[in-house]
Amino acid sequence: MLTVEQALDQIAAAVRPLPARRSPLADALGLVLAENIVSDSDSPPFDKALMDGFAVRAADVLRADSSLNIVGELTAGQIADRPVGPGETMQIMTGAPIPAGADAVLRIEDAVIDGETVRFVGIPAQPGRNILRRGAAMRAGDVVLSAGRRLRAQELGLLAELGRAEISVLPRPSVALLATGDELVPVDQVPGPGQIRNSNETMLQAQVARAGCRVVPLGIARDNERILEQKIRAGLEHDVLCLSGGVSMGKLDLVPAALARCGVREVFHKVHLKPGKPVWFGVYDAPDGRRRCIFGLPGNPVSSMVCCELFVQTAIRALSGQTPIRPAPVSARLVTTHSHHDDRPTFVPSHLESGLDGPRVTPLGWKGSADLRSTVAANAMTLFPPGDKDYAAGDVVDVYAW
Ligand code: AMP
Ligand code: MG
Repeated sequence: MLTVEQALDQIAAAVRPLPARRSPLADALGLVLAENIVSDSDSPPFDKALMDGFAVRAADVLRADSSLNIVGELTAGQIADRPVGPGETMQIMTGAPIPAGADAVLRIEDAVIDGETVRFVGIPAQPGRNILRRGAAMRAGDVVLSAGRRLRAQELGLLAELGRAEISVLPRPSVALLATGDELVPVDQVPGPGQIRNSNETMLQAQVARAGCRVVPLGIARDNERILEQKIRAGLEHDVLCLSGGVSMGKLDLVPAALARCGVREVFHKVHLKPGKPVWFGVYDAPDGRRRCIFGLPGNPVSSMVCCELFVQTAIRALSGQTPIRPAPVSARLVTTHSHHDDRPTFVPSHLESGLDGPRVTPLGWKGSADLRSTVAANAMTLFPPGDKDYAAGDVVDVYAW
């Protein structure tokens, strides 16, 4: 059986990034840039006042009691219609272009205005004071963002400054979700005897939406070969199809065979981990030339959740160009003792927080892979390697933020 690392390697090897597409800037949060961005202008585009105050010739205010004639007023967006001559000043607001002749801005707080004249207290003015020079932050021709960068608020703001209303990005993967099981009823219905609600769809929908994907829920497929095949074919229209349930050893675990009949090629079935051992992964090369990724997640909710975090999110990162592709753990110290006795590496829902000596983690009591309620207190999962070990408080473990 594959280890988690081997399974992640196989996903990384099988998944190809989606082709780049143009996107409006406003829809690009979280996407990865697919072009280098070169500045076509200087920033700021002109010498700019950094303070509300007075634009002066520094040589005029060497002495603290120098008095200057006020010959104009400049607000942001206004260009001076004359230069500042010797013995003159213009009142200026933050962001306004520095008028010709002036080479410093003195703060309004340091000015004593007397009718048409102003004098300054306390400071001689050095040239350049309170001025941001043209091109100080960015010069025309600079590569300011490189392909591969994930777009956050600051990158989007910079693109807006450059007037790039549309950019080339790796698009959001579209992810179809298909819950399987005769026992499932939709969330808004009351389960009959032996039935349960389809909680996995809502949970998985949130997990992949959080990763920036477009989500298309396909509802519930009964454990019936014909219905399964029909719904799987609809799901294969999308970049990723995630099924939940039907991949274990039960009589009605029909998913792997149904996927095979739909032309999906198995890459792996079963991974050495807990919870989530029956997880299934395959690929389908669609007639449009694009490769689809298909996951069969075990039906138990915590298994589904853990496998989505480890495996589905890895495929999503690979499709959308995010790096690193693999889930990145942090090292944290255990707050409590923990006893681990299992031959499988186990991902335990946990609470991760920052402490004075670095990250610390508390594994939560949970009743196994059907216990979704315990995950509500969790924001992470702690990985306990296979074997029998009694961990002490303070021991360092690998933790994956959720
Ligand atoms: P399976 O993987 O189909 O054998 O299902 C394992 C367990 O998970 C069973 O107890 C199922 O009832 C439960 N289960 C399967 N699908 C879902 C779902 N969509 N939502 C909640 N529980 C589920
Ligand atoms: Mg089932």
